[in-house]
Amino acid sequence: MGTIQRRRGAGFAMDSKMGTRRDLEGAGRRKPAFAGVRERTQCRFCRRGIKYVDYKDVETLQKLLTNRGKIYSRKRSGNCAGCQRKAKKAIKRARYMALLPFTT
Ligand SMILES: [Zn+2]
Repeated sequence: MGTIQRRRGAGFAMDSKMGTRRDLEGAGRRKPAFAGVRERTQCRFCRRGIKYVDYKDVETLQKLLTNRGKIYSRKRSGNCAGCQRKAKKAIKRARYMALLPFTT
């Protein structure tokens, strides 16, 4: 019923030439993660008073890995130097025991 509007090829002729359009530069700057809140004094292992990072504790170690099996940097994981070293050893042991993946 009613009138049928026929549209033929409408939209193709749209002036959609973007050319070299520059999006706002610098707008995508990385957000400062937790800016101002730098009060976490201790790393996760120091807080728990762990002296030895167990390689069998896969759940803990997995938090220090990317999903590809790489170890997070100290900055990323928030570990202190000593604990990062212990964690590194534990992760490598766990890899050797096939508890964690090697990175390819
Ligand atoms: Zn620590």
